[in-house]
Amino acid sequence: METRKIFLNEDEMPRQWYNILADIKMNPPLGPDGNPVKPEDLAPVFPMNLIEQEVSTDRWIDIPEKVLDVLSIWRPSPLVRAISLEKALDTPAKIYFKNESLSPPGSHKPNTAVPQAYYNKVFGIEKLTTETGAGQWGSALSFACSQFGLECRVYMVRVSFDQKPYRKSMMETWGGKCIASPSMETKAGRDALEKDPNTPGSLGTAISEAIEVAVSDQTGKTRYSLGSVLNHVMLHQTIIGLEAKKQFEKAGDYPDIVIGCAGGGSNFAGLAFPFVLDKINGKQIEILPVEPAACPTLTKAPFVYDHGDTAGYTPLLPMHSLGHAFVPPPLHAGGLRYHGMAPTVSQIVSEGLASPRSVTQLEAYEAGILLARTEGIIPAPETTHALACVIDEARKAKEEGREKTIVFSWSGHGLLDLGTYDKFLSGSLHNFVLSDEELAKAEKIFENYPKPSLLKSF
Ligand SMILES: *Cc1c(COP(=O)(O)O)cnc(C)c1O
Repeated sequence: METRKIFLNEDEMPRQWYNILADIKMNPPLGPDGNPVKPEDLAPVFPMNLIEQEVSTDRWIDIPEKVLDVLSIWRPSPLVRAISLEKALDTPAKIYFKNESLSPPGSHKPNTAVPQAYYNKVFGIEKLTTETGAGQWGSALSFACSQFGLECRVYMVRVSFDQKPYRKSMMETWGGKCIASPSMETKAGRDALEKDPNTPGSLGTAISEAIEVAVSDQTGKTRYSLGSVLNHVMLHQTIIGLEAKKQFEKAGDYPDIVIGCAGGGSNFAGLAFPFVLDKINGKQIEILPVEPAACPTLTKAPFVYDHGDTAGYTPLLPMHSLGHAFVPPPLHAGGLRYHGMAPTVSQIVSEGLASPRSVTQLEAYEAGILLARTEGIIPAPETTHALACVIDEARKAKEEGREKTIVFSWSGHGLLDLGTYDKFLSGSLHNFVLSDEELAKAEKIFENYPKPSLLKSF
């Protein structure tokens, strides 16, 4: 029997996160006056301890003991050799994945939900608001809030609220409250509904709603929490890649190619950034974020300054963006329907440290089915995008006759997304590809915005 899983003991869990801001240059976020945002400006939205992390340039940041304790409910996650997939593809490539589907909510998202809930709690906050796309983030934050005794209020993008009702059940089981977005509760929501009463909703609008509710709470005990995009989220997710590096050391192997699906960029960054550090230090390694062709922020959209939300409540962030007014088609990988991309991920792409790919929804599901029938785990619709790229790279390795080592992030399981598998299997799932015309229309929004500089870190 060949070894499939490489484990770490609980006491081998990394004790520090890796902060890529120590190693790359970044354009600063800009406020409404066009000047860089000061930490105090963010204080109504986030607790100061997380704002400090957001701007820190320390390379290593300690993981608090109480956070490690909750993470140890499911971490360290195994590094798994996808032996059955390798056989099915008859490839000389060795394929590994970090199985992030084993957390209680079923994705990588609690890796940051847990520390975010913890830092809010120790800062004296009692309630968190947030948005959720497919419901993975809302579930993760509800779970984390239940661990630390916080209230949780989640605005869920309407199309997913209707497609994935059991995610709401999960959130409410953990004690969270889930509301379809746009809602009538907020100005941002009412404006969006007035524009289009039948809108499928977007993450951008749901973010606006959640921020509005947090900053308008007069008690001062409510803050907002974001599940991707921001620097501190990428930081918390690096536990994935740091564990993976230790596991590769145990296995006596090291990846040539690192792959992750990218919505806001956090599971990709979590696995990839510790390897990006090695790449900066001279290692030969290909780093591939994978996105849907229907929402191609890294592969097609420009590197610009844009708001993180539709109403424009957030600072301007330097990122690849389709424009904050962009409403992506209702593709089934709800977690990949975000108009922008993490500034840190955008920056490493603009410096050539990572090479983005895009795949269509049908390519993604075909890959998902193959993985379900080989490795057994039914992947989340988001994860299937990474899988399509993995299969592509494994086939290339076969054509070239090269024994490459590939690692990817299995960001979540799809057990609450089975409705879309039904659609795929019955042939009623279709591709959406963003046309150049739609792209040009979406880009118009940046005409009068400042432009980020093209920075080179080394
Ligand atoms: C949310 C989600 C994603 C996309 O978010 P990132 O921040 O890009 O990681 C990917 N996979 C799963 C399973 C998700 O829940």
